[in-house]
Amino acid sequence: MSCLDMPRHPVPDFLNKTPRDYNDAESMRPRVPSPVPLEARNGARVKAQSAAPHGVYLPNNNILTPAMRSPAYVQMSTAAAITLGIMKGMMHRTSCTRCLNLLLTYPEGCRANCAYCGLARHREAERNYADRNFIRVDWPAVPYDDVLDIMEAGGDGGRFHRMCISMITHPNSDADTRVVLRRWVERIHHVPVSILSNPTTMTRQDVQELKDLGAEIFTVALDAANPEIFDRTRGRGVASPHSWQKYWEILRAAAEIFGPEKFGAHIIVGMGESDYDVLTQVQTIRDMGGHSHMFAFFPERGSLMDHLPPVPRPQWRRVQLARYLIDYRGHRLERMRFDEAGRLIDFGYPQDELQAIIDAGTAFRTSGCPGKEAADISACDRPYGDSPPSDIASYPFPLKRRDIKRVRAQLEQGLPLGPHEPGR
Ligand code: SF4
Repeated sequence: MSCLDMPRHPVPDFLNKTPRDYNDAESMRPRVPSPVPLEARNGARVKAQSAAPHGVYLPNNNILTPAMRSPAYVQMSTAAAITLGIMKGMMHRTSCTRCLNLLLTYPEGCRANCAYCGLARHREAERNYADRNFIRVDWPAVPYDDVLDIMEAGGDGGRFHRMCISMITHPNSDADTRVVLRRWVERIHHVPVSILSNPTTMTRQDVQELKDLGAEIFTVALDAANPEIFDRTRGRGVASPHSWQKYWEILRAAAEIFGPEKFGAHIIVGMGESDYDVLTQVQTIRDMGGHSHMFAFFPERGSLMDHLPPVPRPQWRRVQLARYLIDYRGHRLERMRFDEAGRLIDFGYPQDELQAIIDAGTAFRTSGCPGKEAADISACDRPYGDSPPSDIASYPFPLKRRDIKRVRAQLEQGLPLGPHEPGR
């Protein structure tokens, strides 16, 4: 079994019994968070124990979670820790990631409460922040000086094409992001930096300062594809501080300050929105000059949506393909057709060219900020961040013939694609 295949939280049974074409809004309601006892709020247990950190902290391996804070400490994805040689492990069909994803860390954790997220505030009742799973994997905490030393000595073997700072929602994260960024650009000259921002605590001036300090790409995790789903999953619906308007304000500021091809937005597919909702955001962001980075909804263990079904593959594949056509083939939303529920029923794209794009497979790889390979190939490959290896949603490597066959079959469950040459 791959080290990144986390079997502890199987998809609920009923979800596998009824074939679903898409996740509708009615079914995708988050559960209500339980109250957090006073003695567990704001990282109180970690702060009371006040265990000093010693080197790398592997989640759930110690009795006491140390009191670690950015910028002295950062967390990194399991895949990044394996690539950097900080953790031992193997990944299914890939040996590394191309992006060093760093997460700011504090005993208080993220102060937001997003319903699909393993880092959300309601989890302080059951798990300390540094021990929480996020996009399906654990995130070891590492002294930032160690990360810089290893990178400066070439310890990644040139495998990282990008570094990304994930800000989370915390009163110190704006200032600490600047410190982490400044220290990186002073010492590491061969790996550009992306910012995964936290618009809720930011102003336009903050965006400008990150650009001035040397960030190359700025991203906003919209995550939800319409205002209602946003409010339900990361706003008032779950006692979380985010607002659709504020996220778009900062995204527009990023478009102006960072410029074309240097900003983007994350969107999760399958939280109750329609295909039309997602692709409307994708087209708007493309028209502004940016790109959309897509995530397949997966019920994260311990989150407020962990009882809900992952995005059905037919829905995911058609949106993945349509997004690729808009982002990298100059296609437009207006040329696609949708049914009355907003499901995509016609790509409006020449059949032979569509088949060639499916055969190439790039449309079905993980999407995100680019690396050194090509503009449409993401450095941020997030191995198994949105699916188990047994049913890959975002491929973190080039697709083989058998993968294409599977993707094509999933696409055709949702809408007929017309004839294609046998054997492809
Ligand atoms: S702001 Fe980001 S890290 Fe915090 S709960 Fe929401 S999605 Fe998770």
